Amino acid sequence: MMKKQNTITPKKALVADWTTLTRTFIKPEDDAARSTLIKYMEQILFGLQDFLKKHVGFTEEVSLLDLSKKFTDIRISKNPEKKLTDVLTDLIEDIAPHAVNVASPYFVGHMTSAIPFFMVHLKTIVAALNQNVVKIETSKVVSVVEKQVLAKIHRLIYRKSDAFYNEHIQSPSTTLGCFTENGTLSNLTALWVARNVFFAPKNGFDGVEKEGLQTAYKAYGIQRSVVLVSRRGHYSLNKAGGILGIGNHNIVAVDVDENSRIHIGSLNRTIKEIKNSREKTAILAVVGIAGTTETGTVDPLLKLGEICAENSIHFHVDAAWGGPTLMSEKYSHLLSGIELANSVTIDGHKQFYMPMSCGMVYFKDPEIMDQVIYHAHYVNRPGSVDLGIKSPSGSREANSLILDSALKIMGSQGYALLIDHGIETAREFAGEIEKRPDFQLVTPPELNILTYRLFPASLQKQILGPDVEQAISINEKLNKINRTVQRLQRETGNSFVSRTTLKMGNHLEQDKVVLRAVIMNPMTTIEILRKILDEQENIYKNTFT
Ligand SMILES: *Cc1c(COP(=O)(O)O)cnc(C)c1O
Repeated sequence: MMKKQNTITPKKALVADWTTLTRTFIKPEDDAARSTLIKYMEQILFGLQDFLKKHVGFTEEVSLLDLSKKFTDIRISKNPEKKLTDVLTDLIEDIAPHAVNVASPYFVGHMTSAIPFFMVHLKTIVAALNQNVVKIETSKVVSVVEKQVLAKIHRLIYRKSDAFYNEHIQSPSTTLGCFTENGTLSNLTALWVARNVFFAPKNGFDGVEKEGLQTAYKAYGIQRSVVLVSRRGHYSLNKAGGILGIGNHNIVAVDVDENSRIHIGSLNRTIKEIKNSREKTAILAVVGIAGTTETGTVDPLLKLGEICAENSIHFHVDAAWGGPTLMSEKYSHLLSGIELANSVTIDGHKQFYMPMSCGMVYFKDPEIMDQVIYHAHYVNRPGSVDLGIKSPSGSREANSLILDSALKIMGSQGYALLIDHGIETAREFAGEIEKRPDFQLVTPPELNILTYRLFPASLQKQILGPDVEQAISINEKLNKINRTVQRLQRETGNSFVSRTTLKMGNHLEQDKVVLRAVIMNPMTTIEILRKILDEQENIYKNTFT
């Protein structure tokens, strides 16, 4: 690490006083500080990645343990320890090199990846304006921009008429959705609304939001509430089960078919069983997933929409990952049926390529969020357009400015190019895996996520036999191989593929440890992916043979 401070000239002690304090609110301390600040901002705005180029950042060069030993300071110093310029130097020279280079085209393991450089500029402007979208009094124009961009994405999903959007786009009393901090909170919001719709106020009962679940159950003669989702459902739904008081055991996992999609027969059976069970059970929602986190597969949304309509069940689509696929003319059909959803989750910080963090939830019915309305006396008075009235969050940043600007800069076609590249590169990658005798494609990519595993040809022959015990022991061996290879590759630090354990459709099937690749970085090419496979093959051969 470069040492940057001239330690020979004695430094004036830093003090916290009104003079320095006011300066920090107005402008950098002096001209030298100003030019350092500009120099660093330039580096940050035009390529902080330069600091991270060589590795994906998970190398064991400096272990997490060693790093953690450097961060054990529990005291807040009374006077300033450092000047702004020195702190920036530290961040760029000491912290950034140890961060994970999620922008590397070799980092294909997670849903966090490179972002267009202009996103950093937009984020900076949002920070500089420091608007608080909880209320008009601290956001004004930003609140109406938010309503505009909500309408744009709502239209992408639901394709309602111009008259519909004219009515609702800036209507103070209705809302097409809301921005949240992430997909987790968006899923929670959707289920919160679904719960409140189910246990709505009725004679003598003020609704579940006011009276709580116990009273709601009594009022409706219900003993238990469930949400049905395939076993590929994101664990945020379980959190929602806990927070909403229905209990996360009641987020019921439905079997998947051999393509990792919800098994419609199992779903129908589960619904029937619940309806016939002696314990009176409310089905608050069925969740369809448009791009599961583990395998990127899309549930049969049309079919789910029909089933929900027949049974009068709230249909939620978790499109946290896959939502932006709607911008691709080539692949939007993969999400057909999403327009049947009562609510839809989409993450901004995933395939809208926004910086951390931004989630959104959309509702077909612009009045449904009345079920979660809250007022406060000093803001958010009834009838105001304050966006905080219907939202799980209080204060929050103006993410809509980033998304609205990004949509203008990229155009839906720009996003479509990214989406198409991801899907098509993932397909090519799958072809490459299938060509290699020591690999097995486990879940082919429907969107841009796929899973596979090392499965040495010698073992593939053995597992074909009818011997169940042998099959189990080979699967265990494979799990160990894949765990080890993934870890060693990560620790080498040239590339990163993640790992998960898939419970397959059939109860008899063993849990499979698989490698998981997420292709969203436009710089990730098939050549890079071949190199990643080569590396895995080499690690396997060097370690196990
Ligand atoms: C990522 C993801 C979530 C959770 O979103 P966060 O933004 O990480 O909170 C939920 N569902 C699916 C399908 C996801 O891919």
